[in-house]
Amino acid sequence: MDFKFSPEEEAFRDEVRAFLDAKFDPELRAQTARQAGVFAEDAVARRWHRALAEKGWSAPSWPKEYGGPGWTARQREIYAIECARVGTPSLPSMGITLCGPVIMRYGTDEQKAYFLPRMLSGEHIWCQGYSEPQSGSDLSSLQTRAVRDGDDYVVNGTKIWTTNAHNANWIFMLVRTATTGRQQAGISFLVSPMDAPGITVRPILSSSGEHELNQLFFDNVRVPVANRMGAENDGWSVAKYLLEFERGGGSLGVGLRVGMDKVKAMAAKEPSDNGESLLSDTAFRRKVALMEIDMICADWTDLHLSSNAAVGQSVGGTAASIKKLLASRRSQDLAELAVEVLGNYAMPDQRRAMGAHPQENPIGPDYGVTVTARHINNRASTVFGGSSEVQYNILAKLIGL
Ligand SMILES: Cc1cc2nc3c(=O)[nH]c(=O)nc-3n(C[C@H](O)[C@H](O)[C@H](O)COP(=O)(O)OP(=O)(O)OC[C@H]3O[C@@H](n4cnc5c(N)ncnc54)[C@H](O)[C@@H]3O)c2cc1C
Repeated sequence: MDFKFSPEEEAFRDEVRAFLDAKFDPELRAQTARQAGVFAEDAVARRWHRALAEKGWSAPSWPKEYGGPGWTARQREIYAIECARVGTPSLPSMGITLCGPVIMRYGTDEQKAYFLPRMLSGEHIWCQGYSEPQSGSDLSSLQTRAVRDGDDYVVNGTKIWTTNAHNANWIFMLVRTATTGRQQAGISFLVSPMDAPGITVRPILSSSGEHELNQLFFDNVRVPVANRMGAENDGWSVAKYLLEFERGGGSLGVGLRVGMDKVKAMAAKEPSDNGESLLSDTAFRRKVALMEIDMICADWTDLHLSSNAAVGQSVGGTAASIKKLLASRRSQDLAELAVEVLGNYAMPDQRRAMGAHPQENPIGPDYGVTVTARHINNRASTVFGGSSEVQYNILAKLIGL
């Protein structure tokens, strides 16, 4: 595989760099550096989304016909590298990355014309209503009920772990529209504004102290039948298609490589037992080397799995499960290594005892401010989007185990 850039690709990289220099200003950089959760704070995310939308870059993976830039795989890779290099805010992915492709495939012309431009502009921020208190891994057992009443469904039930629901103004959700037959065959995929009467959002605080998650309650919420994507009772196909983007949509290598560079830069400033920097410590260097080799393998696997996916298309269910497994495990390893580099400064109990905010580290260096919170938050990456065990089960079935 040729990793050299063509003159056109170099010109594109320069354009991306110039845009980031101009628009990712010092204030945004400082705010983003304190991000400990999966997504940037709401105000930061909205500001960055607007800047991208003005440039026409808010949906890097969308085809031109729907308002995306229509980039090649190499352009998307270059863009991702440059964004990771400077650490741009990670925007909530539930609209553009997850629901957008679903609307492109299953939406009516009216739905496409209404929702897609509003996703691009950032006017609509989405959340994902899949999981319920008794339905996570066994998602198709979900019980939130939608009963037809004229031109509406009347929805009752609860959704849990709904990331960013407190900032979102739209939700896509799986509801039960039939109670007989296979449980997968009685599910429909609906979308609703979050301010519809009868929706209550209750916050759930993470162990790192962040508010990212919520439980939602639906009390006789009316959702127009026109807000259904796909056929009634065929929501399971829609749901699985969306999961291919959730599990396999990201680029595996880029963020990890940049993350590793950051951890090494931290290690260069931290002392080891031999009195020099931790980066000169043989045991530490060995650990870094093994992780870097592992990351190169994961990166190559990712390139191979992603190479066939055209713009706007998913990598397919199998590749998505493999990517999810590789990405979540490696990001956890990296977050753990960062905690090791910080040593005692990373201890959350010590910081809490001092009354520190989760994103403050009064006893440690500035560069360690979010390390512990990120590590704690990242424990969830082998659970959200379908746990590792669920991905192993999917792959085991495929090879007939
Ligand atoms: C930070 C975070 C953000 C999330 N955001 C969202 C969101 O925005 N929207 C949304 O809808 N959901 C969201 N989720 C929910 C997530 O999808 C579920 O947590 C996940 O699917 C697991 O379901 P569960 O929590 O009910 O665990 P369970 O399904 O109860 O699983 C518990 C444990 O048992 C294991 N297990 C279960 N079944 C099997 C099996 N058949 N074989 C082997 N092991 C098994 C699991 O791997 C896990 O370790 C989020 C979760 C987290 C942690």
